[in-house]
Amino acid sequence: MSGENSRKPCILIVEDEEQLARFVELELLHEGYSVTKCGNGRDALEEAERTQYDLILLDIMLPGLNGLEVLRRLGKERPTPVILLTARDSVMDKVAGLDAGAVDYVTKPFAIEELLARIRVALKLHPMETKADGAGSPAGARGAGPESPGQEGVLRWGPLTLDEPRRRVLMDGHEISLTNREFMMLKTLLENQDIVMTRETLLEKVCGYDYVGETNVIDVYIRYLRSKIDDVFDVKMIHTVRGVGYVIKAWEE
Ligand code: CA
Repeated sequence: MSGENSRKPCILIVEDEEQLARFVELELLHEGYSVTKCGNGRDALEEAERTQYDLILLDIMLPGLNGLEVLRRLGKERPTPVILLTARDSVMDKVAGLDAGAVDYVTKPFAIEELLARIRVALKLHPMETKADGAGSPAGARGAGPESPGQEGVLRWGPLTLDEPRRRVLMDGHEISLTNREFMMLKTLLENQDIVMTRETLLEKVCGYDYVGETNVIDVYIRYLRSKIDDVFDVKMIHTVRGVGYVIKAWEE
């Protein structure tokens, strides 16, 4: 976390349980992060508009505006990764939260080490620098036209193009809006065309190596991807290999 040029990552904690918020704040400060706290959803939205955070820890059960609503209002285009803090057994909240663009969730009560590990993974997978407009993409070509062939970070499957530097997926020129995890899932499958990917491998690629949870969350993302691509464009892109996992077969004309 130290180093002359490295800026402290800024984390926004949105949590109405003051003791818990304070505890997490102290741990994060100890780890070298810069921390701001909000006790309700409206303040959180204002704060997130005002300041570019590197990561938001967002409790779902908040007074007034709940966490899922905050997440929706932040919008899927928001580059800041969000980790949800959820109550045990609220599977629907987790699925809804991930679908709304959260990159991960941690179930309460959690061990602080687990939360810190999730934060490290999220910051690594979703660094704000590369998501800033123009930064990291060739010649800052924001909003430019179709990618040139063979461009680094661009994966193709017939009419579909996944452009990682610009974090875009196009099908026949139509942009497909994907959550971070759907994007990671599609990228992993496209990088491994004709290779069957097990749920465990996909889970590791999509959710991080230290993700603790059920592999059937992978089936949920596959369903979302199919509903956004296969169903809309009437193609059969993602194949199920029963008992094993999923594969995208190489495109054949
Ligand atoms: Ca709460």
